Amino acid sequence: MKPMDLEERYGARNYAPLDIMIERAEGVWVWDVQGRRYLDCLAAYSAVNQGHCHPKIVAALVEQSRKVAVTSRAFRNAELGAFFRDVCELTGYERALPMNTGAEAVETAIKLARKWAYTRKGVEPGKAEILTFANNFHGRTTTIVGFSSEQQYRDGFGPFAPGFELLPFGDGAAARAAVGPDTAAVLVEPIQGEGGIIVPPDGFLAELREVCSERNALLIVDEIQSGLGRTGTMFAHEHDGIRPDVMLLGKALSGGLYPVSVVVADAAVMDVFQPGDHGSTYGGNPVGAAVARAALAVLQEERLVEKSARLGEHALRRLQGIEAPQVREVRGRGLWIGIELDESAGGARSTCERLAERGLLCKETHDHVIRFAPPLVIGREELDWAIDRIEEVLTA
Ligand SMILES: *Cc1c(COP(=O)(O)O)cnc(C)c1O
Repeated sequence: MKPMDLEERYGARNYAPLDIMIERAEGVWVWDVQGRRYLDCLAAYSAVNQGHCHPKIVAALVEQSRKVAVTSRAFRNAELGAFFRDVCELTGYERALPMNTGAEAVETAIKLARKWAYTRKGVEPGKAEILTFANNFHGRTTTIVGFSSEQQYRDGFGPFAPGFELLPFGDGAAARAAVGPDTAAVLVEPIQGEGGIIVPPDGFLAELREVCSERNALLIVDEIQSGLGRTGTMFAHEHDGIRPDVMLLGKALSGGLYPVSVVVADAAVMDVFQPGDHGSTYGGNPVGAAVARAALAVLQEERLVEKSARLGEHALRRLQGIEAPQVREVRGRGLWIGIELDESAGGARSTCERLAERGLLCKETHDHVIRFAPPLVIGREELDWAIDRIEEVLTA
């Protein structure tokens, strides 16, 4: 059987991908099984900010795999300390807790916030509340989909964990009214990615920061997709000049080679975790640690954050200049741009299919938004080539 038939025959049906069968990739380009080349404008949801198969990150993966790959944290491993140091120096926090997927980092932060609330804030047992926002995306575990506002993510998967409340995204006054004595934390994406590249109004994160400080609640910022250069700053919350209490990283933390996520916080918060409170068999393994260190080094050596800012501004200006009646709005920050189409356009997926025919891989989000998020290693000419194709399709 062909790969596609095998997939259909044996795979679970929880995805409906575009029918592009990718066989190999390098930098911003991927090739399908027929040898056709595409420019990747999704970058695996920002997991490959450093470009596909970056040679330095691949080398770290191969080299470390030959030495020792997984030890479990029953023992120490020689790679972990340097990984913690690099992450803490980059983020400016005192402690790092490694996991694998983004959803696990979010789960870790939920446990951390609740234990902090009971042991430090003095919230009565079982009463801790976490405030999140409508239209959020934080992953797919049962606890996390329990506080999603997306019906499909929830339907059929309950009962859900209590202790979460949803607030309108971007509404600082609503948050101010909601944070109270039982609030352990406010959990927020600085820009809602899966939600359609929704940039909140200026001052929103600053207001969350202020109310959390006033009422002694933790501000947890999920930078799993927005962090590590995507929006033109190392972390998206820097645009608002704030410092969260807890930050979550994943995706590009390992440059797409291997799942690595991390929760960072200062000791006053993180030290509520004691030996045995939390863990993961693969979390903090030597391969993950070595790969993440290489991925962070590439981000800095190749000045990808500055590149994202510079090229992102250019891309946003060009995309906003496209005159097409079906385009409702073009918005974003850095190389993270959403093109919202009018409902009359018949859905962003069909536009993505037409872009694929012209050699561009894009993925719709929320039916009517095309997201544009190429690897940050993209060159100016490649970027203009991609935007020319988008213009062609949108104005056809
Ligand atoms: C992707 C994502 C997650 C979940 O990460 P996984 O690795 O898919 O579990 C969590 N939060 C945000 C903001 C994300 O974009």
